[in-house]
Amino acid sequence: TKQQYVRTKPHLNIGTMGHVDHGKTTLTAAITKVLAEQGGNNSYVAFDRIDRAPEEIERGITITIAHVEYETATRHYAHVDMPGHADYVKNMITGAAQLDGAVLVVSAQDGAMPQTREHVVLARRIGVEHLVVALNKADLADDEDLLDLVELEVRELLTRYGFDGDAVPVVRVSGLRALEGEPLWTHRILDLLAAVDEHVPIPPRRLDLPFLMPIENVLTITGRGTVVTGAVEQGTLAVGETVEVIGLGPAVTSVATGLETFGKPMERAEAGDNAAVLLRGVKRGEVRRGQVVCLPGSVRPHTRFRADVHVLSAAEGGRRTPFAANYRPQFHFRTSDVVGAVTLAEGIAVVRPGEAAELTVELGLPIAISPGLGFAMREGRLTVAAGTVTEVLD
Ligand code: GDP
Ligand code: MG
Repeated sequence: TKQQYVRTKPHLNIGTMGHVDHGKTTLTAAITKVLAEQGGNNSYVAFDRIDRAPEEIERGITITIAHVEYETATRHYAHVDMPGHADYVKNMITGAAQLDGAVLVVSAQDGAMPQTREHVVLARRIGVEHLVVALNKADLADDEDLLDLVELEVRELLTRYGFDGDAVPVVRVSGLRALEGEPLWTHRILDLLAAVDEHVPIPPRRLDLPFLMPIENVLTITGRGTVVTGAVEQGTLAVGETVEVIGLGPAVTSVATGLETFGKPMERAEAGDNAAVLLRGVKRGEVRRGQVVCLPGSVRPHTRFRADVHVLSAAEGGRRTPFAANYRPQFHFRTSDVVGAVTLAEGIAVVRPGEAAELTVELGLPIAISPGLGFAMREGRLTVAAGTVTEVLD
């Protein structure tokens, strides 16, 4: 039998975000390498094992989109590095919806770019409250003034989007040189981790609320049945308890007959855990990504709601042109992705990039939503807006 999961340290979910090619995956690999070389429980996860499409990943039932696991002296982390393919922002939203904190990777050579801004806007809206900046590729800057300038620019950017830009730690790193084992840069990785340990607080876990876990992935384990994976948003679930899977279609009732985290069985999953739940008698096609697993009767899916949105400008990776009523983008809530039709407030004809707006939305399929929930509106590969539900209508 497999070894049971033992809770020894507080568990946090973090991730890397930032513009493409600024070094997120290299940094993720470097973190695991530097920690593995410190001894303890950590193992090195190489770049090419992190940077690949989810469908290629078959390791264990809880390892989905490039989740790597490591621990510092005081904490256990699950770290998600969003893969660099077309679905990047989609995965970022899924990941961001579950993050307790994030490392914003900014190349010291290029400074903040459109995707840097886009990810900061999304982080803010989707509830990633705590950021640490990795000013990466610092090995390429032969001038400290340049690094100072980029740091200042990043702090201003964070302040503009509602973070405390002066207080956010900015650590100058080189993921590549650390991966190559250069002591100066190895040290900086440890500095970065110390900043994460210190600056990202252990979030209050809502253990007393009814169990809820958005489904990130559905897998079939031969001989055992259907397993759903995701990060537990609230509450706890013990083996043997009854659950309901809701949203996107008819509800399914089942019993959780097995629970695992990072390949290790556990008796009880709780808020903040990355969990795999084995569902008795459920066929693979009956449940899917975007639904939520919850305590029966605790949540009802909805189609209509009101929201406040920030419409991204082109410089934030958004549209160049306004949109009008009856606009039908995709709405990304947690792990789901549903089309919706937009109604504008009285007297408003169009909403322009860069503006704030109040919208009423009617979704094509019902999903679990509640006031305060963050979401993104997307059209093709563009993030059109980031928003927050203010009122559920029906
Ligand atoms: P991602 O798209 O943000 O995940 O970026 P990658 O990790 O794939 O890195 C993009 C490119 O930048 C690769 O060619 C890396 O080798 C290079 N790179 C990443 N980090 C550093 C660094 O710290 N210094 C230098 N010089 N190059 C880096
Ligand atoms: Mg990458």
